[in-house]
Amino acid sequence: MVDFSLTDEQIELQKKARDFAQEYMIPYAHHYDKTGDFPLPIIRKCWEQGLMNLGIPKDYGGPGWGALEQCLVVEEMAAGCAGMTTSIYVNSLGAEPILVAGSDEQKEKYLPPLVEDLKFISFACSEPYMGSDVAGIRTRVKKEGSNYVLNGSKFWITNAPYADYFTVFASLDPSKRHKALCAFIVEADMPGVKTGPPVEKMGHRASVTSSVILRDVKVPEENILGSEGMGFLIAMQTFAMTRPAIAAFATGLARAAMEYAREYTEKREAFTKKLREFQAIQFKLAEMYMKIEASRALYLKAAWTADTTGDSTVPASVAKAYATDAAMEVASEALQIHGGYGYIDQYPLEKLFRDAKLYQIYEGTSEIQRLILGRHVLDGYDPAMEDIPKWGLKDAPDF
Ligand SMILES: Cc1cc2nc3c(=O)[nH]c(=O)nc-3n(C[C@H](O)[C@H](O)[C@H](O)COP(=O)(O)OP(=O)(O)OC[C@H]3O[C@@H](n4cnc5c(N)ncnc54)[C@H](O)[C@@H]3O)c2cc1C
Repeated sequence: MVDFSLTDEQIELQKKARDFAQEYMIPYAHHYDKTGDFPLPIIRKCWEQGLMNLGIPKDYGGPGWGALEQCLVVEEMAAGCAGMTTSIYVNSLGAEPILVAGSDEQKEKYLPPLVEDLKFISFACSEPYMGSDVAGIRTRVKKEGSNYVLNGSKFWITNAPYADYFTVFASLDPSKRHKALCAFIVEADMPGVKTGPPVEKMGHRASVTSSVILRDVKVPEENILGSEGMGFLIAMQTFAMTRPAIAAFATGLARAAMEYAREYTEKREAFTKKLREFQAIQFKLAEMYMKIEASRALYLKAAWTADTTGDSTVPASVAKAYATDAAMEVASEALQIHGGYGYIDQYPLEKLFRDAKLYQIYEGTSEIQRLILGRHVLDGYDPAMEDIPKWGLKDAPDF
């Protein structure tokens, strides 16, 4: 059975997120975009309303929502402000390695504080010389007695200056690539952990990004996630769970862009007609709508797969690659419909256009999603035609 309807509970959650975006995000989005300040009051409000840390299980004090419900929420919030939503959702990304591979003790120690208080956990994988190639991590770890000692630099780490905890990926021996990766829970106040100044960014300016420097950081052995060598698998399993949400982010942003464009076509006149009366403009809106509908269907399938099978790698890559490209195209066309006004900051389109770009880059670029899918089609995909029937060998049948 295929069923696209949402439960009453899901509709209620979706509405709560939509109301939050309209009341607390949209009115302040321009301010935080201009200043690049961290939107702490908005994030606090979000946390107070129970719209943060959605995937933390009930056993650890969280609401225990699945990937699907998290996607419904982020679609609404990203339609309000992409940058704020990135900063809010990074707690889910940062906590996911603990959900994927943490022991009961680790979950008991690190998950409830995120729900009981406004605490931040960041995902620290990327480095100055490594982003897509996770197996190429250069941050080193070595065992010394009952500690692991970390040395290296992480870059692009969302919320890092505000983080209380990090999930950090490091290598026992970079020449052994993915086989040597390990993942750790690192507390921000452990000696040797430092964060750099926020990086000036083109978009998502309400989300703060900075480096994390690790100098002889002694991490107790009980803070390793899984065991030595499991880091690569933990990172990939984390992305499989969180990429559907990036597709949902992109869907929300695209939806907002289309709605702003739709409204503009009602007001703006050219050649004595409203823009909405030109078929060329209607076709642009139609293209936007098709892309948004397709993006939503793909993220729903990916999230459903994550919730029901626990492995959504392939549908998550399909959804992320499609929806993020679609958001870029929709934002561009919605800006075009605004003409010159799309290009200035009196209207939200230029911000949406800048914000859309990041979705094609973080949590695995569009190219990396295609790499995963190309490999899947060649090596993982189960062809419908087991033996490809011979083509064109027979004349007209006599049956
Ligand atoms: C605002 C922002 C926030 C971020 N937040 C975080 C965070 O919280 N935590 C974190 O760990 N990281 C974070 N990142 C890092 C992000 O995940 C990386 O930027 C991304 O994975 C790409 O890595 P890179 O920038 O090193 O590009 P590179 O890996 O150097 O790639 C450069 C280009 O080459 C392409 N490319 C690379 N390899 C291949 C290949 N095999 N085939 C085809 N094309 C290829 C890429 O697609 C890209 O177009 C963030 C980045 C930004 C910009």
